[in-house]
Amino acid sequence: MTTVETIESHVEGAWATGKGQAAKLFNPTTEGEVATADTAGIDMGKALAYARETGGKALRALTFKDRAELLFKMSQVTHKAREELIETEVINQGCTRSDAKFDVDGAIGTLAAYAELGKKLGDTRILADGEGLALGRSPRLWGQHVYTPKLGAAVFVNAFNFPAWGFAEKAACALLAGMPVVSKPATATALTAYRMTKHLIEHAGLPAGAMSFIGGAPGDMLDHLESQDVLAFTGSAATGNKMRERKNVIERSIKLNIEADSLNAMVVGPDVEVGSEALALFLREAAKDITQKTGQKCTAVRRIFVPAKLVDDVIAELSARFAAIKIGDPSSNDTGMGPVATKAQLEEVKRGIGLLKKDADVVFGEGAIVPSSGYFHPIMLFRARDPKNAPNVHNHEVFGPIATIVAYSGDAEEAGQLVGLGQGCLVSSIYSDDKAFIERATVAIAPWTGRVYIAGAKVADHTMGPGTVLPFSVHGGPGRAGGGEELGGLRGVVHFMQRTALQGYRPIVEGIAGIKSSASPA
Ligand code: NAP
Repeated sequence: MTTVETIESHVEGAWATGKGQAAKLFNPTTEGEVATADTAGIDMGKALAYARETGGKALRALTFKDRAELLFKMSQVTHKAREELIETEVINQGCTRSDAKFDVDGAIGTLAAYAELGKKLGDTRILADGEGLALGRSPRLWGQHVYTPKLGAAVFVNAFNFPAWGFAEKAACALLAGMPVVSKPATATALTAYRMTKHLIEHAGLPAGAMSFIGGAPGDMLDHLESQDVLAFTGSAATGNKMRERKNVIERSIKLNIEADSLNAMVVGPDVEVGSEALALFLREAAKDITQKTGQKCTAVRRIFVPAKLVDDVIAELSARFAAIKIGDPSSNDTGMGPVATKAQLEEVKRGIGLLKKDADVVFGEGAIVPSSGYFHPIMLFRARDPKNAPNVHNHEVFGPIATIVAYSGDAEEAGQLVGLGQGCLVSSIYSDDKAFIERATVAIAPWTGRVYIAGAKVADHTMGPGTVLPFSVHGGPGRAGGGEELGGLRGVVHFMQRTALQGYRPIVEGIAGIKSSASPA
């Protein structure tokens, strides 16, 4: 019999368990219970105050270079726990080992990348923002923008699908900025986040209060946010909107970053032909993107725009690839795709399929057999009946191994309009070797998307697919995707800092900003 682990919280510098009705966490393959989580009775106000007062103070006393060393250590500690964390994702998320590595290695790599960035920022605590300038006729009066760390806590509310990476991408930026972290993972898959945090708190040498962990329901935590805090949320657009509407968040102008739903798009260019390298790359990446993590990736493609002449070939090729993927126990080496993470998620996928069917026909996967116990769902491919009049295809994110093919004319501006019907996405990709088409399509698509991934023969052997979030490219998107932005190198760090315009005598202003001026004003 497997033991059921109790997930604790780490607040006010100590581990604590709740005293209420614990939530149960399951293995989505066996439906067996793996852990419980309970935060009832934890004083969220005191937890935040301790982070601000003890953790914030200690982190702000360090320089960027010191904080970079902490991130490097965090990366090393996570790497040491890698095997355990991968195993945890298999039992508490239904990830195949490959899917679990994607999350855990993403966390390790992101922490290391920000450690490198912090090292370059050096032994300083304030960041200069851009160039300074003379504010009047006299060279004495000088203007310079600077960033200083916010004095509150960086509070993270994360989604169920990336318990390691989702935490690390936020934590790397906040800790480097000098803000203490209060992390609340999604309850259903919190076991990975809990075990990772335990290793970090015990072995990464973080100052007291630098990292707190809420292992379960947030209770009234968000009502205790104060004006110097930052709230970084990843999850569904519906929950994100609830955060936006919270009285406390509005009244105190809490800085809020939202990463939410996304109807990501792939656009195949009109130049792409059967047998071409660009088509082979597209098929490889589309098949991976739809099935990796059983489609539970915020960056996974949901809509695939294909020139009408290629649609039948694309459906046939993708169907053949999907038919070869074995769905089953994710701990088996020959399994290509595991279950979705929770029972609720499975029901949500089925509901989404009902909506897609209003506007699209199933072209692969209808009635496919999957294991009858566990939260398994077949891979499904749809074809939209009327590309521009398919509201469910463009508006409803089915968070599973599902995508819809949408035929279009091959015109770049039309592709942009179709992508825009999704009302804002995290990533859109263009598969083409036609420079003119790529340029026009990029301009048409970019306003609707946080990242444009351009793939073709020239980069075919060097790409990692559109689904990979890289620390030095921004992650986030407009509109439905939440309007937020994370990562992007220094861009992600300054979300946790205050930008202030300094105006004064040039040597003083530049001294504060850490700029060595060559000019000597009279
Ligand atoms: P969710 O149901 O919205 O939950 C997300 C987080 O919000 C969880 O930690 C949840 O806690 C918490 N939460 C829910 N209601 C809350 C409330 N009233 N107050 C405070 N916290 C609350 O989303 P999910 O099912 O975990 O994740 C799937 C969604 O996330 C998908 O729509 C996907 O597109 C999106 N996602 C987006 C990105 C991105 O970067 N844009 C990345 C990953 C996922 P409990 O678990 O304790 O309820």
